[in-house]
Amino acid sequence: MTAVPTIGVLALQGDVREHSRALEGAGARTLKVRRPEELEQIDGLVIPGGESTAMWKLARAFDLLEPLRKSIEAGLPAYGSCAGMIMLADRIQDGMPGQETVGGIDMTVRRNAFGRQVDSFEAEVPLTGMGDTPYHAVFIRAPWVEGVGDGVEVLGRADGGPNVGRIVAVRQGRLMATSFHPELTGDFRVHHYFADLVRRAMDQED
Ligand code: GLN
Repeated sequence: MTAVPTIGVLALQGDVREHSRALEGAGARTLKVRRPEELEQIDGLVIPGGESTAMWKLARAFDLLEPLRKSIEAGLPAYGSCAGMIMLADRIQDGMPGQETVGGIDMTVRRNAFGRQVDSFEAEVPLTGMGDTPYHAVFIRAPWVEGVGDGVEVLGRADGGPNVGRIVAVRQGRLMATSFHPELTGDFRVHHYFADLVRRAMDQED
C-alpha cells in the first residue's frame, strides 16, 4: 500500500479546505472537483459538510449530479461528512421538497436530526477499525442514520446523552459516511481510514 492516491473534494460548497488539509495529512494528493471531467482524475472523493440543499442545487446547476451517480455506481470510493452523508444516502427524511441525493449507501438519513434538540455539540464516539480511543466528534446541525440495509456496516453510534445508540458512522464497501466533521479537530483517523480504503480499491484495479 505505497501508492499516493489522488482524492477529490467536491468543491461546490462547504468546508473544502479543511478536508483537503486532512487528506494531505493522511498521505493523499487532493484535487478540488467542480466539473464532471475532474471525476476522471481522482481515485476517491470526499463530499464535505455544508448544506445539502445548496449542494444538491449546485450539483444540478453544474451538471454534476448524474456524473457523480455514475462514478459512484462504477466503484469510485467516496466519503461524505454531515451534508455529504445526506448526499450519499439512498433515502432521506426531513429534506426540502424535491431534494435529491447522489445516493450509493443503502440507508435512510434524517436531516438536521440532532439539531432539533441542540444545534451543535461535541461527543466521544468509539469508531470500529479506527483505534481504541473514542473519536472526539464535532456535530453541527447534524443528520443521523435512521436505518441501514443489510450490506451496510455500522462504524459508530452516539455513546451517551438523549440520543444514545443513534448511528453516526457507516460504511458500505467503498462508500463511507459520518454525521460529524472529522476535518475540524486535527485527529485525522477518519481521513486515514478513507485514504487506506482508496488505496485498497486502487490495488484491486491494478
Ligand atoms: N444541516 C445540514 C444539511 O442539511 C448539514 C449540516 C452540516 O453539514 N454541518 O445539509
